[in-house]
Amino acid sequence: MERRPVTLVTGGSRGIGAATCLRLAAEGHDVVLGYARDEKSAEAVAERVRAAGARCLTVRGDTSREDEVERLFDVAAAELGPVTGLVNNAGVTGPLGRLVDARTEDLRRVVEVNLLGYLLCCRRAARDMAAAGGGAMVNVSSAAATLGSPGEYVHYAATKAGVDALTVGLSKELGPDGIRVNAVAPGVIETDMHAAMGDPDRPARTAGATPLGRPGQPGEIAGAIAWLLSPDASFTTGAVLRVSGGR
Ligand code: NAP
Repeated sequence: MERRPVTLVTGGSRGIGAATCLRLAAEGHDVVLGYARDEKSAEAVAERVRAAGARCLTVRGDTSREDEVERLFDVAAAELGPVTGLVNNAGVTGPLGRLVDARTEDLRRVVEVNLLGYLLCCRRAARDMAAAGGGAMVNVSSAAATLGSPGEYVHYAATKAGVDALTVGLSKELGPDGIRVNAVAPGVIETDMHAAMGDPDRPARTAGATPLGRPGQPGEIAGAIAWLLSPDASFTTGAVLRVSGGR
């Protein structure tokens, strides 16, 4: 029997990450679901993943911390086998506002989770996938990387532009090892993230600025991620796939 891919999804307890875990389970992956705080939500998603026929392990850890990232991959390999897929998804924005008003601690946190965290996970995944003979990574970026998000969160947009550069550079480094690295850049998607940044109505309010006239759903991002991880994307690497309703 062919071995099921083992794919680690950071931030799998809610939103885009949760939808991705469910979609990957339906497409034959076993799933390692990483989360930061919300064990109850993580377990609820894991139950649904298992109900879809996949093995699923939940692992708590802060992706901005090297020791916790190493533990995440160690536990994953010990329980489910070598990780051959990574979805770097765990991200934060901090409160909405102009850069002149932003607190240093919020800027630091956004850079540490969105950029350092992605780098730490990519580094470890690159080592494990090279040893396993190949693999695929998808970094969840944002349309903000090219829009810049003035007045909302230029610091967040800057980290996502960094994610795009990471994706292009790492794809070139790792191509010879049989490891593909791509990104998905979502537009405004209906998740808890907007309430966390202090504006729960943001998806509805910004719909008019989107050519398709609505916010996206987490499942619409999960589909793009699953495609990039699949054999159908076997010649695709270094791509930043924009899934933003035309924005
Ligand atoms: P969300 O609903 O707020 O969920 C965030 C997830 O990340 C949760 O599972 C959370 O875990 C986890 N997380 C947060 N900080 C973490 C850390 N330090 N270590 C480990 N896990 C952490 O977010 P979302 O809207 O689905 O966003 C997912 C990704 O898509 C992010 O990278 C975001 O920047 C990107 N994105 C979102 C949108 C959008 O409109 N929603 C648009 C473009 C890009 P807990 O549940 O345990 O807290």
